[in-house]
Amino acid sequence: MSRPRILIVGAGFAGYRTARVLSRLTRHKADITLLNPTDYFLYLPLLPQVAAGVLEPRRVTVSLTGTLPRVRMVLGEADGIDLDARTVHYTGPEGDGGTLGYDRLVLAVGSVNKLLPVPGVAEYAHGFRGLPEALYLRDHVTRQVELAAATDDPKSCAARCTFVVVGAGYTGTEVAAQGKLFTDALVRKQPLYDGMRPRWLLLDVAPRVLPELDERLSRTADRVLRQRGVDVRTQTSVEEATPTGVRLSDGEFVDTRTLVWCVGVRPDPLVAGLDRPLEHGRLLVDPYLQVPGRPEVYACGDAAAVPDLDRPGQYTPMTAQHAWRHGRIAGRNVAASLGIGSRRAYHHRDLGFTVDLGGAKAAANPLGVPLSGPVAGAVTRGYHLAAMPANRVRVAADWLLDAVLPRQAVQLGLVRSWSVPLDTASPELARVPGAPAKHADRPEGAS
Ligand SMILES: Cc1cc2nc3c(=O)[nH]c(=O)nc-3n(C[C@H](O)[C@H](O)[C@H](O)COP(=O)(O)OP(=O)(O)OC[C@H]3O[C@@H](n4cnc5c(N)ncnc54)[C@H](O)[C@@H]3O)c2cc1C
Repeated sequence: MSRPRILIVGAGFAGYRTARVLSRLTRHKADITLLNPTDYFLYLPLLPQVAAGVLEPRRVTVSLTGTLPRVRMVLGEADGIDLDARTVHYTGPEGDGGTLGYDRLVLAVGSVNKLLPVPGVAEYAHGFRGLPEALYLRDHVTRQVELAAATDDPKSCAARCTFVVVGAGYTGTEVAAQGKLFTDALVRKQPLYDGMRPRWLLLDVAPRVLPELDERLSRTADRVLRQRGVDVRTQTSVEEATPTGVRLSDGEFVDTRTLVWCVGVRPDPLVAGLDRPLEHGRLLVDPYLQVPGRPEVYACGDAAAVPDLDRPGQYTPMTAQHAWRHGRIAGRNVAASLGIGSRRAYHHRDLGFTVDLGGAKAAANPLGVPLSGPVAGAVTRGYHLAAMPANRVRVAADWLLDAVLPRQAVQLGLVRSWSVPLDTASPELARVPGAPAKHADRPEGAS
C-alpha cells in the first residue's frame, strides 16, 4: 500500500512547525512535502535588526532541508488549488512548475502587505515583509546618509536624512526605533551639513503607538521613541507620496527619499480563491484547524481564522506566537487523522508580547507583567533566543559583537528597488529576478 501524502503549503511559523511535528510523529509512515518559495524559514520578529545592521541576514533564516528530516522540500509558489481533484499547482523559481497531489493538505501561506488606496504609495513606498526588503532598506538608509554627508545643499541633506515610517504596530515601531539608532551611529562617523541630525517620523492613524497591544507597552515604547528623538505622530497618516516626499494628513509636506510602509498585513489572497467561507480574508477553520466540509484540508497561521476558545465569537490574532502553536496542533491532528495519536482542539492563552526597541531597550509584558528598560531588553532577547528553532549561538554572537564593535556600514547593492515592490501579492509584479515593467525605469533610491 502506498503511503499517505501530506502536502504543506508555506514554511513560515505555522507550516514549518507543522512539518517538524509531522516529521517526528509519522517517521516513515507518510510522505511529507513542504512547498515554499524559499529554502528557509524566516524568523520575522528579528528582521528589523537585519535592516539596522545588527544581525547578519542568514542569522534569521533556518534551512528547511537542514532541519526537517524526512520532509521533501519543493521550491515554488502555489497558484491553484483543486479541492475536488486534491491537487495543488505551483510555479517554481525559474518559471517552471508542476502539480502536487495530496491526501492531507495544510495551508499555511501567511499574509501579505496591506495596501491602502493612497496616491503614490504603491510606487514610492517599500514594505517590510522579508529579507530582500530588510536588505534593501539597510542599503538604502546607508546610501541616504552617505549622500547627505557629501552634499553642501542643506535642503537635499535634510530630505535624504528624513525617514518616514507609516504604521506604528510592532513592525513599524521596531523599524523606526532600530533605524534611528542605526542612522545616529552612521552620522557619528560622517557628520552632516551644519551638524544636522537624522530625522525619523513614525505615523499612525491610531491614537497611540502599538495600538493592538496592551496600553502599558504603548506608553513604554512611546517614551523610548521620543527620548531617542523619533518624531511620533499619532492620528496622522500619508495622503500622497511623490518621488521627493510625502504629504501628511495634517497638511505638512515632508521632504524625504524614504517611505517605509508598515500599515499591517492581510491574509494571503490564495485562500480567498478556494470558494470556502472566509473571516476578514482568513480561511475559516474549526478548533481542530480543519476546513468545514473538507476534513482532509487544514489551515493555520495568519491565513486561517482559528476560533479563540477563550473569547467565544473571536479568532486568534495574527501573531507568530499563535502561528507557531497552530503548527503544533495542525501537525498532531494531521497525524491523528492517519491513526497516529489523538486530535486536539486549538487552545492557547497569550503569553504576552515583546517589542525590541534597540540598544538595551524594549517593552515587554511576559505573562502579563509589564516591563521596560534593560530588564525588558534582556527578557526580549532571551525570549527570541528560546523561540528561534536554530541559530541561537550565531544570533547571540552578533548581539555581543554589536555591543562592543561599531556597526559595519557598507552598501552591498544586492537588492534593487524594483525587485521589492510594495504590492507583492499582485500577479503583475514579479517576486523573482526580472524587473517588472512598471518599475523598470524608476531611478534607484527613489523609494
Ligand atoms: C517584520 C515583522 C515583524 C514581526 N514581529 C512579530 C513579533 O515580534 N511577534 C509576533 O508575534 N509576530 C510578529 N510578526 C507577525 C508574525 O511574523 C506572523 O504573525 C507570522 O509570521 C505568521 O506565521 P505564518 O506561518 O502564518 O506566516 P509566515 O511566517 O508569513 O509564513 C508564510 C510562508 O508561506 C509562504 N507562502 C506564501 N504564499 C505562498 C504560496 N502561494 N505558495 C507557497 N508558499 C507560500 C511564504 O513565503 C512564507 O514562507 C512580525 C511580522 C513581520 C513582517
